[in-house]
This record gives sequence, structure tokens and C-alpha cells, in this order.
Amino acid sequence: MRPYIIGIFLFRRDIMDEKVVLSLCEEIKAKFEGVDTLNKLNDLKQEYMGKKGIITEYQNGIKDAEDKKTYGMNLNKVRNAFDELYNAKLEELETLELNKKLESEKIDITLPGTEIPMGAPNILERVIEEVEDLFMSMGYDVYDGPEVEDDKYNFELLNIPKGHPARDAQDTFYIEGNEKLLRSQTSAVQARVMLEHKGEEPIRMICPGRTYRRDEDDATHSHNFTQIEGLLVEKKDISLSDLKGTFDVLAKKLFGENCVTRFRPSYYQFTEPSVETDVSCFACNGKGCSLCKNTGWLTISGAGMVHPNVLRMCGYDPEVWRGFAFGFGAERCAMLKYGINDIRTFYNADLREVGSFDRKEDI
Ligand SMILES: [Zn+2]
Repeated sequence: MRPYIIGIFLFRRDIMDEKVVLSLCEEIKAKFEGVDTLNKLNDLKQEYMGKKGIITEYQNGIKDAEDKKTYGMNLNKVRNAFDELYNAKLEELETLELNKKLESEKIDITLPGTEIPMGAPNILERVIEEVEDLFMSMGYDVYDGPEVEDDKYNFELLNIPKGHPARDAQDTFYIEGNEKLLRSQTSAVQARVMLEHKGEEPIRMICPGRTYRRDEDDATHSHNFTQIEGLLVEKKDISLSDLKGTFDVLAKKLFGENCVTRFRPSYYQFTEPSVETDVSCFACNGKGCSLCKNTGWLTISGAGMVHPNVLRMCGYDPEVWRGFAFGFGAERCAMLKYGINDIRTFYNADLREVGSFDRKEDI
């Protein structure tokens, strides 16, 4: 058996009497006192309880002991003493580490939080949704259509044949030759829906969507803008007064209950007769102000009775069916309603501006 030297004492691993117990216990106690980190504690455990640890070697020495029972009992005393000191030290050091960690990660709950800016719905979307809700409550369906459109739907079926001067005012972007273009009006969707219904069913529809014109962008013009158009086709005797009533409801919804409306004669290729529709200025109640250029009226949309040619080309017999159509720009509506004086505001995605519209809505 290899002797083991601690200090000046020479121990044999097959002797475990009271003296050895005492000496080992004192030695262990002293060593624990010098431990101040979990790493050192682990090293100490290895030194005594590891594969080649002191207590482990004593354990192995039991086979050579004369009185195995006493040896075992005494060794247990040493091991228990070690375990007790080890557990106490472990708890002490863990508490210490935890406190240190808590101290370093301390959160000052009195500090102001990080403000996350709130988004707001796009103002155009809000106007569109408002109009959609209103018309759906009156039994209208909402339709969508392609933004890249055929010349046929965008112009020809709407009574604007090739070479017609009205095309100049709606010059758009052509994709392929003269046939594929970015739609200059959402009326193309109306033509599609009429053809879909094959001249047999009545139609109540609105079709909000993006449209394109070859306009130079400035405060009031944009090459891309949003139209909201509607169409009603019925067998009954639909007249301008039905259109007036419908427009009245729309105007009141958008600009308030006090709003009154008027029609002025106008000209469009796809309606006959055609009108321009005005609402009384909501800023001055019709008295005259800078918003309405002292006229007391704001022009909102164009409308009229669907032209017999359009009905016929889209499969409806004008002798049996009649209808009205209207259209207006969502941007113009939103600009008037929210006091916006530059159309580009809608497209620049500036959250500060979007947020300010949001607040206006709450007032
Ligand atoms: Zn006014």
C-alpha cells in the first residue's frame, strides 16, 4: 500500500481510527474555509471524492483493514462530515452567485420604456372601406379586376372606340403594342361584370381600385390613383333620381348629415345623360370659403345613366334594362375630408402623416 503524506503525518490507507477521523475532519474543514468559488468547490470534491480522491482511496483500503466494521463506520463519519460541509458551502456559494447575477441584471422599473410607434390604416383604405360598407348595406357587391387591362374593356366596350378624342384625356401606359395597357379607369371592371352576367341578371356593384394615367406628378395629379366606381343595372325604370338618391346617401356618409348635393350637366362617353355631382362645402356649410373657392360647392364625382351603346355592347338590351354609373377619386375625397393638400402624401409612407390622420379621425 502506497503511503500518503499530509503535512508531517504519514498515513496508511488501511487505518481509520479516531485519530485519523479527527485529523481528516479538521483538514477537510480547513480546506472548505479556503473555498470561495464554485470551481474551487468542485476541485475540492475531486480531491476527496473523485476517482483518485483521498476518501475514495480510504474506501478502497477497507479490504486491508483489520476491523472492517470500525473502519467503515469511521470512514462514514469522515464522508458525512465532508458531505455536510460540501452542501453548506454549495448553498452559500450558489446564493452568492445568484445575488451577484441579480445585482448585475437589476432592472430599474422607474425608467421610461421604449416607445414603439403605432401604425395606422392607410387613409385611402379607410375611405374605400367606408364606401364599401355603405354600398354593401344597400345590397351592392364589391368587385375587383386586373390592373393590366385589354383595350377592349378599358375603352371599346365603354363607347370609346379607337381614335376617339376622349382617349387623349385618359392617356395611359401601354404594356404591349396598343392592346395591353394599365387601366385608366376601373370602369373596365363594370364591362367585365356585365359580360359575366350575360344580359340576364340585374347588377349592383362597386369596384374600387388603382388606375393609371400619363400625368406629371404634382400636388393634385398622380400617375397612379384610386377610383371608386359603382354600377346599377335593373329591369325597372331606373332614372336619374335613383342616382341622385344614392349619391345623396354616399355624400352624407362621407361628409356628414348636413351635406346637400346637386347635379350639373356634363359629358362622358359611357353615360347619357351625364352629370357632375357636387356636395355642399362641409367646411363653410355652403357659405363660401377657400376650400370651395367661394362657390359653396365641392365637385366630387362624375355620373350618369349608362349609355345604351354600353349596355348593348356588354350584352344588355337597352330596351329592357336601364342603369346608372358613378365614379370618383378616393384621393380627392380623402384630401377634402382630412384637409390634405398634396396627393403625394398618400404614397410617401410617412408614418408621422399617417398617424396624424389617425388622430383626426378620433376628434
Ligand atoms: Zn367652403
